[in-house]
Amino acid sequence: MAQTIVIGAGPAGLMAAEQLAAAGHQVLVAEAKPSVARKFLMAGKSGLNLTKDEPFETLIGAYGNAGDWLCPMIHAFDAQAIMAWAAGLDQQVFTGSTGRVFPTAMKASPLLRAWLARLDQTSVQIKTRWRWRGWRGGDLVFDTPDGEQLCTPDATVLALGGASWARLGSDGVWARYLTDKGVALASFAPSNSALSVDWSPYMQPHFGAALKSVRWMTGGQESRGEATISARGLEGGGLYSLTPALRKDLSLYLDLVPDITVDALQARLDAKKPKATLSHWLKNGLRLPSQKIALFHEMTKSSALTQSQWVDALKNLPIRHNGLRPIDEAISTAGGVERSALDGGLMLTTLPGVFCAGEMLDWEAPTGGYLLTACLATGRWAGRSAAAWLDR
Ligand SMILES: Cc1cc2nc3c(=O)[nH]c(=O)nc-3n(C[C@H](O)[C@H](O)[C@H](O)COP(=O)(O)OP(=O)(O)OC[C@H]3O[C@@H](n4cnc5c(N)ncnc54)[C@H](O)[C@@H]3O)c2cc1C
Repeated sequence: MAQTIVIGAGPAGLMAAEQLAAAGHQVLVAEAKPSVARKFLMAGKSGLNLTKDEPFETLIGAYGNAGDWLCPMIHAFDAQAIMAWAAGLDQQVFTGSTGRVFPTAMKASPLLRAWLARLDQTSVQIKTRWRWRGWRGGDLVFDTPDGEQLCTPDATVLALGGASWARLGSDGVWARYLTDKGVALASFAPSNSALSVDWSPYMQPHFGAALKSVRWMTGGQESRGEATISARGLEGGGLYSLTPALRKDLSLYLDLVPDITVDALQARLDAKKPKATLSHWLKNGLRLPSQKIALFHEMTKSSALTQSQWVDALKNLPIRHNGLRPIDEAISTAGGVERSALDGGLMLTTLPGVFCAGEMLDWEAPTGGYLLTACLATGRWAGRSAAAWLDR
């Protein structure tokens, strides 16, 4: 029985550990935090979106250029497999109207409890407060409550997460241990990120209000998803999917009435009573909700619009903002271990016997269940590859 170590007890690490145990190996899971899977539990606070039930081609398309790399891994553990996996943990799931799959409990804690109970029946042993500090010679070095520990496992799976929400454990510090070993890493960048906006006091009553039925446009990309006005700026799925484009080009435009064509809007403006003001027309003519009207005024207040510019401003409202929020606030991160540093089994080519999985790999995807899908699928792939490598 080989001795293996999985570092990081998020969904990717726990999945890798389960695979190694199923293959008959002894598994130590080392987790830096006092408890496991803190980000997974946080993900469940707003409804744990486990995966997306849609045709495989659409699903894999969500990973952009990384899709062909991740394809065999996600194909082997796709949305259907994830639903079956949850069912195997006695967790009922349901599919929402957009294909998003959630546990009926919505939270992550019942699923995590069931998963840990199942792992407890195997050769997996979990050590919390074990912080990995890199390598010394061929040994893995850990800071533990009992002092420094050196380990020399037969195989290692790193599942250390990305570099956002550091307080939940994924602080990205591991990057330097890997670059020291010559592993190619893409720089971390925020993904699924909110935008910073310096609002005038006029916007305060609208904090928390959702902007629905809108179209966001940037750099040739667009999104019909909604966003919320927050004290710090704008956040929500409608903007998150545009983060890769916004990283390249920060110009952002909003169509406040995407379901009304320019011609139809112009006709409605032409039919307006001559004395009706802009505010009156937005409220009574177009029946826009107050948060959309406030945003329109906020973004156009310095431009002194003439009536001939109203239609264009409604369809292409320039959103003045201060860029993406800091990486630590992002739902996920882009960057990490590059594909070129790994073989097809997710083993580091420069460090035989060391495998990587989860968000620490260089891929990104929008919210919608795609993040956990790839974390679980790559965790499973890395665990199985490590087992196969041990059996070689
Ligand atoms: C608010 C929020 C909501 C989200 N909602 C969803 C959702 O609904 N659906 C979805 O698909 N995704 C969601 N995500 C993203 C998802 O939670 C992550 O992509 C996923 O948890 C990443 O899994 P992972 O196992 O790769 O890394 P993580 O879950 O980050 O786990 C990595 C683990 O490694 C540990 N670690 C790091 N460094 C060390 C070290 N040196 N030594 C030992 N241990 C270490 C960390 O403490 C951590 O426990 C959400 C994220 C956030 C922040």
